[in-house]
Amino acid sequence: MRQNIAAGNWKMNLDLDEAQQLARDISNHLGMDSESTVILGVPYPFLKSISDLTYPITNLHIAAQNCHYEAGGAFTGEVSIPMLKSINIEHVIIGHSERREIFMEDNAVIRKKVTALINSSSNVIFCCGEPISVRLEEKQNEYVEKQLNESLFHLTSEDMKRVIIAYEPIWAIGTGHTASAEQAQQMHAYIRKLISDKYGSETAENTSILYGGSVKPSNAKELFANPDVDGGLVGGASLKADSFKDIIDSF
Ligand code: PEP
Repeated sequence: MRQNIAAGNWKMNLDLDEAQQLARDISNHLGMDSESTVILGVPYPFLKSISDLTYPITNLHIAAQNCHYEAGGAFTGEVSIPMLKSINIEHVIIGHSERREIFMEDNAVIRKKVTALINSSSNVIFCCGEPISVRLEEKQNEYVEKQLNESLFHLTSEDMKRVIIAYEPIWAIGTGHTASAEQAQQMHAYIRKLISDKYGSETAENTSILYGGSVKPSNAKELFANPDVDGGLVGGASLKADSFKDIIDSF
């Protein structure tokens, strides 16, 4: 069953005390009987502490923001999937545009990470989305289709049960310029059609597709109301408990 998901991406922000306080506030807000699923993308050094702190809340998952595709070895500064699993981290954000643009991760590297995660029975939050130059040429559908074809669509339909897709137009990330509800719905419907063409309608209907790019309390309801928008991947507005709680309550 496809879920409504509010995912936060804390990026390289907060210290340990701030991270713990934010996680406590979100956990208290969710309680034991909330219907929304929440994922927090936490910096590596805080993963274990935040995971331990939020453990009793079953609909709150803690995600790493990246991982290496090799299980171990001489990769100074990197973190492997077995390391993450050893501290009960089973969700990883992959292919965020900041990883693609700043750290030069291409579709081939992202595919290796996706494969390694699925082979380890972990869950993938797969980010895709076009830069402004592509949007201005109205080539966004082709651009996102290539990202999916080259990094995700080698998976089986069984594997796809472990995948959440986040459509994040790069021009909307951290800029305050949110895609309109119509632009988001159009792309999400297109992605769902691609999944349906490849895997069939059941897989397409069961895959959660999140929108990311300047989601805030003031626009979350309108975005989430679209039939193919199953929630959001939220950067800036996930760093303050009040604004993220408002977004969680926007379904
Ligand atoms: C993100 O980092 O994935 C993101 C969407 O950031 P923001 O919400 O700040 O635009």
